[in-house]
Amino acid sequence: MLEEIQKLNKDSLLPLRHSAEHVLHLAMQELYPSLKKVMGPAIETGFYFDFDLDESITPEDFAKVEKRMQEIIDANLPIKKHEVSMEEAREIFADNQYKLDWLDEIKERGEDITLYSIGKEGDEHYDLDLCSGPHVKHTEDIKAFKLLSVAGAYYKGDENKKMLQRIYGTAFENKEDLQKHLEMLEEANKRNHRKIGKELELFMMHETSPGSPYWLPKGMVILNELINYWRVEHAKRGYKETSTPLINKKELFETSGHWDYYKDDMFVCDMGDDDIYGVKPMNCPNAMIIFGSKPRSYRELPLRLSDADTLHRHEKSGALNGLLRVSSFRQDDSHNFITTEQIKEEYAQIFDIANQFYSVFNMDFKYRLGTRPEKYLGDIEAWDYAEKELHEILTETVGKDGYSVEEGDGAFYGPKVDIIMKDVLGRDWQMGTIQLDFQLPERFDLAYIDKDGSKKRPVVVHRVIYGSLERFIGILIEHFAGAFPVWLAPVQAVIIPITDGQLDYASSLKEKLSEEEIRVEINDKDESMQAKIRDAQMQKIPYMFIVGGREEKADEVSVRLRSEEDLGAKPIDEVIEKIKDIRLTKSLNLW
Ligand SMILES: [Zn+2]
Ligand SMILES: [Zn+2]
Repeated sequence: MLEEIQKLNKDSLLPLRHSAEHVLHLAMQELYPSLKKVMGPAIETGFYFDFDLDESITPEDFAKVEKRMQEIIDANLPIKKHEVSMEEAREIFADNQYKLDWLDEIKERGEDITLYSIGKEGDEHYDLDLCSGPHVKHTEDIKAFKLLSVAGAYYKGDENKKMLQRIYGTAFENKEDLQKHLEMLEEANKRNHRKIGKELELFMMHETSPGSPYWLPKGMVILNELINYWRVEHAKRGYKETSTPLINKKELFETSGHWDYYKDDMFVCDMGDDDIYGVKPMNCPNAMIIFGSKPRSYRELPLRLSDADTLHRHEKSGALNGLLRVSSFRQDDSHNFITTEQIKEEYAQIFDIANQFYSVFNMDFKYRLGTRPEKYLGDIEAWDYAEKELHEILTETVGKDGYSVEEGDGAFYGPKVDIIMKDVLGRDWQMGTIQLDFQLPERFDLAYIDKDGSKKRPVVVHRVIYGSLERFIGILIEHFAGAFPVWLAPVQAVIIPITDGQLDYASSLKEKLSEEEIRVEINDKDESMQAKIRDAQMQKIPYMFIVGGREEKADEVSVRLRSEEDLGAKPIDEVIEKIKDIRLTKSLNLW
């Protein structure tokens, strides 16, 4: 969250969007006088406004609201900042409990109270709201805006509190930028992973376990393929896979520090009699247990203990978002125990892995180095040394300008390198992260015996390349719009017999293809061939094998691709060899 806010503060569109949100709530207040304002921040893609109103707002109301907003903008009213005392503020917002709550929070944090006004009191349009800014100077500076959607949102994201209404909108410096953004949204909507996930029967959710995906058979194929790839490629590079308990006594999390800092985000099982367990929110503590379970020598380092166990984090229901923000997930995790001298070499190897993995999906990515934050643990020399090493290896890998630096964005226990991926729509996603940690080995009192017989503390690298597999698959679904590369496609081929006369031939083909581990189905539904082709295209199945009497006689299939290309009749052995080759090389091509 902190990271999101920091990024936002650097966004030059922030004042504009914040101001557009003020114009929205002023317009809403004028149109619905009984409305109670709650809050309205700018977000990365625009802004939203939460309000309490008995009447339900629908997108049909947007035209009316946008018209009123435009009137306020055209009036070119000044937007001004005011500082007031707590007493004055409480008087101004006396009839709005939400603002009074907010004032209590400001008081608790010891912050100053700032208000922003639009227009002058007594004018046709006038508003005064609690806000810390920043804003543009006049309403006319808002050159292009649009309301996008309306949804329910719990007060403070807490499902035990009142359900409010939330309008989302966006604003840009000019009409062209807005238009481009709206087109991107339309495309993103078509690619929405929740929609495609349902159409292709990849995963589902159920209210008995909010935020925890059920992987359906077809989605499970994708998950397993990704994990297999991870497993094989990491084994080649000396990674050793482990699996550890999902539930540990709370004492483990006290040692790791999670109990103090992270308990509210954990699922906790209280078995009575002081017998309290936590469901692991991350793999690190158990990896430390394995390292510390026997004496270690410098010869064992780097020791790379990988695992893909399921993790659980208790997210507020308002924060959940399909596969992109979940309560239960797996990571392609590893904890690499190294010596300080091995930092550079270890990162070089991990960058090499990242490069390979992202190339496979044809995804652009860049690295972002997060350096020492204000509050940090450990000694400053170790930090300086590690940061210098990371700068060097990043420069060697991607060049001096090939990565960005986020000063103070490192974890409190060590600097980190994040992997920022750009998808096909140009959206940035933070995926993998490679974090150095001086602290956990300290907390678990880990040691290895060095060459000279002395006891030394290892450094640990926490690293994920996909990040959360659930989230990664959500992004893959949108990136490929459900048309996965052959190696990931849940069903790789469908056999379409032209008449029932070819059913036996179709079955023997299916057997032959399955023998080669090609995922294949027969469509023997009582439908026309055209309908079956359409069906396969909707399901984004890479290959359709159409078989009639002629194909049967020649031991051939007529190949159609999901790209609608018709390749004509081909010998079945040639087809099998082709698919095997495409699968092996993880090619994005179909032929
Ligand atoms: Zn504001
Ligand atoms: Zn970790």
